[in-house]
Amino acid sequence: MKISIVGAGISGLATAQAILSRKPDTDITIFEADQRIGGKVWTEVSPEGYLCEGGVNGFLDKIPRTLELCKEVGVTTLPADASAQKRYVYSRAELHQLPEKPPQFLTSRLLTVPGRLRVIYEMIAGGTDLDDETLAQFATRRLGKEAYERLIDPMASGVFAGDASKLSLKSCFPRIHEIETEYGSLIRGLIKLQAKAKKEGAKNKPGPGPGGILTSFDGGMSALTDKLASQLGSRIRIATAVQDISRSGNRYQLHLQDGQVEESDQLILAAPAHAQARMLQSLSPDLTGLLEAIPYPALSICCFGYRKERVGNVLDGFGFLVPSKEQRAVLGTIVDSNVFTGRAPEGSILLRSMVGGARTPELALLPDEQLIDRVRSDLRDILGLDSEPDFIRIFRHERAIPQYITGHAARLEAIEGHLKTHPGLILTGNAFKGVSLNDCVVNAWKTGQALFPQSAKGETG
Ligand SMILES: Cc1cc2nc3c(=O)[nH]c(=O)nc-3n(C[C@H](O)[C@H](O)[C@H](O)COP(=O)(O)OP(=O)(O)OC[C@H]3O[C@@H](n4cnc5c(N)ncnc54)[C@H](O)[C@@H]3O)c2cc1C
Repeated sequence: MKISIVGAGISGLATAQAILSRKPDTDITIFEADQRIGGKVWTEVSPEGYLCEGGVNGFLDKIPRTLELCKEVGVTTLPADASAQKRYVYSRAELHQLPEKPPQFLTSRLLTVPGRLRVIYEMIAGGTDLDDETLAQFATRRLGKEAYERLIDPMASGVFAGDASKLSLKSCFPRIHEIETEYGSLIRGLIKLQAKAKKEGAKNKPGPGPGGILTSFDGGMSALTDKLASQLGSRIRIATAVQDISRSGNRYQLHLQDGQVEESDQLILAAPAHAQARMLQSLSPDLTGLLEAIPYPALSICCFGYRKERVGNVLDGFGFLVPSKEQRAVLGTIVDSNVFTGRAPEGSILLRSMVGGARTPELALLPDEQLIDRVRSDLRDILGLDSEPDFIRIFRHERAIPQYITGHAARLEAIEGHLKTHPGLILTGNAFKGVSLNDCVVNAWKTGQALFPQSAKGETG
């Protein structure tokens, strides 16, 4: 059986690896449009010695499958510094440290006293009849307007560069949706789940945050995709975009940009949804329509390096997020040199700001000089950082992170329905069931399992 995979981001690469680990002699080709493999995993080291992440910054170490993948390909993980637990939100002209433990929440000035009391009221707040609520509707209903604006809205920016008034709670944060459904309250649910975890002696206790330690590699996130690519070797064809897909008999034909046509029995699309939509236009206009409806707003990443002797330490901890109510260009800034060792040359610091996303995509597309001015102006007001940076690197994502807006779950069901009429076609990648790198790796493993239920070692799991 000949298998083709389209897209050599983490989804395509990990899918190929999962298949080969189960059936090593499988005939696989991976087609990648770009000269570079990795997709949104995009590490660059500057001549000055700044290690910049143009896309993915890390993953949480709570998902065993990603850690197993790292072990299998032979890359050593690098956990974030313990101080990276410390995170801030910029609100009302001040940085407020996010409470690390629930009791600190009572003394944090991020929310006013009535705002904090409203959060406690969550334990008895009412439910909803809506089947697919937005994150904003959910958070306002359960936690109150203030907690929504100052905590949940910036979280939507931090994870999805998204607009909480459009994102679907059940598609973006399914576990939170489940806890409400099961326990009727997030606070009561978490108390019960924590008690259960304690009784069972579980290592990871459920908490209000996502849990786990942020993790990367000495050489940055590309260490993982580069290692996967080197092991897949000549199976990957870079600079080979798939333009169109047709089917004749039991095989798919991949029409490549250079005019060549490749045939395949099993076809796995791991490109972004908008690219899959274009490829499937002649095979299935219905699938194209559904895939095109998944928005991908623009996002720019601005990396600034400074000599410490000129600016001091700037900020301890991970960095800060900015609620949209503050009307700043910057969605959030990570002090990368605080988070992982080796991100800035000796005596320097590295900051990384996100601009654009679903609320202000036009800002991500500003010309370099204007973009830099907007970010520097925000960093001046928020961090008091007035110095000229010694180093600047901008990474552009015209179409960055897929947005699971309301209707996403229904869209997935419709896509699955249409796929039944296209046997041998699999759609994967971060557009469907989780945007994080961990989700991509888990979904890649599931594809391997679905194709080859019995692994080479005789395992069925
Ligand atoms: C700025 C940014 C920061 C992020 N930070 C994090 C983070 O810190 N942690 C985290 O867990 N997740 C993060 N994410 C989410 C991240 O996108 C995913 O976790 C993951 O990297 C997506 O991988 P993928 O392989 O599904 O898609 P992609 O990485 O987008 O890969 C798709 C590949 O398909 C190729 N392709 C497109 N069209 C064609 C075609 N016609 N023919 C052939 N190939 C094609 C593309 O060139 C690309 O290489 C971030 C995303 C962005 C944009």
